[in-house]
Amino acid sequence: MLVEYTKDVENCVIAVIKKNNRFFCQRCGNIDQESFFKDQLGVYCRNCLIFGKSSTYRKICRKQVIDEYNDEYCLKKVIYLSKLQKIASYKCVDAYKKKKDLLIYAVCGAGKTEIVYEVILKALNDKKIVCFATPRKDVVLELVPRFKRDFFQVKIVALYGNSPDKGKIGNLYVTTTHQLINYYHYFDLIILDEVDAFPYYNNKMLEGFIKKAKKKEAPVILLTATPTKKLRYMMNKKLLDYFIIPYRYHRYPIPIPRVILTYQTMKKINKNKCPPKIFEWLMKKKSSDKRIFIFVPNISCGMQLEQILKPHINCQFVHAEMKERKRIINDFRQNKFQFIITTTILERGVTVSNVDVCIIGCDDDIYDERAIVQIVGRAGRDKKYPTSDVVLFTDYYTLGIKNAIKEIKKMNTKRLENE
Ligand SMILES: [Zn+2]
Repeated sequence: MLVEYTKDVENCVIAVIKKNNRFFCQRCGNIDQESFFKDQLGVYCRNCLIFGKSSTYRKICRKQVIDEYNDEYCLKKVIYLSKLQKIASYKCVDAYKKKKDLLIYAVCGAGKTEIVYEVILKALNDKKIVCFATPRKDVVLELVPRFKRDFFQVKIVALYGNSPDKGKIGNLYVTTTHQLINYYHYFDLIILDEVDAFPYYNNKMLEGFIKKAKKKEAPVILLTATPTKKLRYMMNKKLLDYFIIPYRYHRYPIPIPRVILTYQTMKKINKNKCPPKIFEWLMKKKSSDKRIFIFVPNISCGMQLEQILKPHINCQFVHAEMKERKRIINDFRQNKFQFIITTTILERGVTVSNVDVCIIGCDDDIYDERAIVQIVGRAGRDKKYPTSDVVLFTDYYTLGIKNAIKEIKKMNTKRLENE
């Protein structure tokens, strides 16, 4: 038996049914016939198999949930918004009232989260259930304490793999997109953060979860700093309402990366040598008070580089599969070492003050336009240190590099138009 939470009347349904001679998974919405497989007992869905078998011989029990509400929800303190943040906030409330989807396209460091506070409160005070969904667990863990600090009387439920809040009832659910599998026609408003990020991006299954978890009429507010091609297309064709915030909350421009051409970078690093231009740049930084992000394209390059640089600078390498990664990132935040070498795990979400940033091997395929824009977005976020040196070390110019610089310049120009 699989369990889903719903606002509808309690009922049980067969998980995989046959509709017009085609299989349909009622749990993840899958209709792709090639991902249905036979076993001894019947037919099951491969699309959502990681969550346990959804099949023709299993039922989904839809548990009706009754909500508890408080009289009035408000913020614990006043949150100051910039002019454009205020307009964006108003647009969100308007979209919610009209039950229309909306995309907020805000540059890295624009203060996206505060923009949705008002619409969250509006919905809660209408006795609605709100979901803030994000592709990444790290974001859930970062946002929940922040929401608890800022919202008064709101029951916040945090959901991710192994979360202790699973099955709990609240008004505001902060969740990874994966966890939405357990909800059926449940939410009155979904705010979807980082729509363009892995694993949400290009993931039909997760898109299906959103559709199923929300009530039919419920609007979705999408947040992104780097829209995908599909989203841009929808913006251009006016298929989706959107609002752009081209500048950061502190109004300083986004640093424009410098490109420094290197030669046979990966080959040299593999042979335990650091290309001279990169080494020079790092040595200069050593005597500054800046913290340095060094992005590398893969784990082996990072490990190699750490070894090469350790005798010269105070550095550590961190990547996604490391158990100690939280501790290392915290140590970096607390200034226990100056240089952090990292794969793309730190490309989003991590905010450290007073940083310079470089990408090594920027010609690698993983550095597309959006990845570069996100990485540059790590720089200059703090009002006290709004400027940063950002360098892309690359063997040659790629389309990603060209487009990323073009995009940042475009947003910076838009910023001036809004003065
Ligand atoms: Zn399925």
